[in-house]
Amino acid sequence: MGRIILHGSMIVLLTVLTQLGGIAWALSLTVRRWRVPIFLGAFLVLWAAAQALAPLAGRVALPCTGDTLRMQSPLYCATLRNFVTPELAAVAEDAAARVADAYPGTVTLALDGGFPFLDGMPLLPHLSHDDGEKLDFAFFYTDSAGAYLPGVTRSPIGYWAFETDGASDCPPVRLTLRWGMGWLQPLFPDRPFEPGRTAALTQALLDDPRVGKVFLEPPLAARLGLASDRLRFQGCRAARHDDHIHVQL
Ligand SMILES: [Zn+2]
Repeated sequence: MGRIILHGSMIVLLTVLTQLGGIAWALSLTVRRWRVPIFLGAFLVLWAAAQALAPLAGRVALPCTGDTLRMQSPLYCATLRNFVTPELAAVAEDAAARVADAYPGTVTLALDGGFPFLDGMPLLPHLSHDDGEKLDFAFFYTDSAGAYLPGVTRSPIGYWAFETDGASDCPPVRLTLRWGMGWLQPLFPDRPFEPGRTAALTQALLDDPRVGKVFLEPPLAARLGLASDRLRFQGCRAARHDDHIHVQL
């Protein structure tokens, strides 16, 4: 009984985190020995198959390496969280190119996009990232002297290093993803937010006619001097957006 719960939990957890990892775990249960290497081998095969087959399902992988646009960390590529529709991939490439034109040497870092397959399966904890038409971007940062740091974020995963005090007009609600992560904030390095590039990326996304909405916390958008009817507040139950930019078609 304990083993069923353990393996069931592993399958659920790996499916939630990587979509295909649960299948690899289930496959490893069909053998008696070498389960971990077989799990890793099966996941590697499924991972490679996803890169090849996702385009048939209407998704492409955002680049894991690159000087203008890349995933913030190899972790996003390893866990198959870097898939978006070809149209959104083009939006990301064009916006990153515009930032690099205005600020040569800038590398735009993408965060969670979506899984390679299945419309309707959310990429937790982002409930809306379920169809390849949503993507998050990291903010840009500088060193303590104000010099831009290419490819560097404050948080090791690009999320949760908040830039405002989180004040909002939201009523206190019980069920919310509007986490403050107050205990985490002192652990992040003192690495100032770079407003010029962050505003340029947000503006490039807002200027793209393929983009439907961009989420950025209103106080931060005001600080950056950004305004557009497509620049929205995500709502009181959704995650804060003063640590990253969210774009959707
Ligand atoms: Zn998002």
